[in-house]
Amino acid sequence: MTPTPREPVIVTSDLRHSYGQGELRSQILHGLDFEVQAGEITLLVGPSGSGKSTLLTLVGALRSVEEGSLKVLGQELYGSSEQQRMAVRRRIGFIFQSHNLVASLTVLQNVQLLLQLSEAHGGQREQRARDLLEAVGLGHRLHHYPDELSGGQRQRVAIARALAPEPDLILADEPTASLDSQSGQDVVELLGSLCRRRQSAVLLVTHDLRLLKDADRIWRIEDGRVRPWQPDLATAEH
Ligand code: ADP
Ligand code: MG
Repeated sequence: MTPTPREPVIVTSDLRHSYGQGELRSQILHGLDFEVQAGEITLLVGPSGSGKSTLLTLVGALRSVEEGSLKVLGQELYGSSEQQRMAVRRRIGFIFQSHNLVASLTVLQNVQLLLQLSEAHGGQREQRARDLLEAVGLGHRLHHYPDELSGGQRQRVAIARALAPEPDLILADEPTASLDSQSGQDVVELLGSLCRRRQSAVLLVTHDLRLLKDADRIWRIEDGRVRPWQPDLATAEH
């Protein structure tokens, strides 16, 4: 299932999605064609309600593909079995706006949490969690609890936790929404450098246009369709 270097980590063809039945049925995605490459940070921008989160849950194999093709990490998700979707989910790191840290565990324990399922033994797991927390600039906060940290620091713990199992793909839904501008840019820079080093892919949903300069590629979703977006166009609009 490991993709060859040239195969995109995500590739869709005429992907559609609707919510509701009968008269209440409303189509959100009207046939998307887009790609995400390994070793790149890809931004997905678009107005509120345009279907960004819907798309992310489809890519994350958290929702069934109804129409069209969606291939993630070499697995076609249209018509896939629950077992196949689970195998894809295991290779994905999820980062959401509400970082969902466990309040009763220290920073170090939170980052080790997802490693419990891996084959690494206790000492290796702890070393890996320490290394990641160093990398996100929290080496001095290992034994603190989440509520002793700032919002930006908590989000960086969530990033370290998502990266701990070495995912091939990171899906982040508005991960910088609760952060000030500088912390938001730090978070995106960090994700970019970590994904380039490991040749993982990051798909990051945001409406924070200040993050555009840190992206390798930008897609914009509007009216149920997605198009490549140029940063110079972006700055011209704002
Ligand atoms: P975004 O993340 O870009 O703000 P969403 O994907 O959350 O957009 O939502 C796209 C549209 O789909 C919105 O109109 C939203 O109200 C609708 N929607 C989202 N989730 C559901 C759901 N579970 N059931 C019905 N409608 C939904
Ligand atoms: Mg959303």
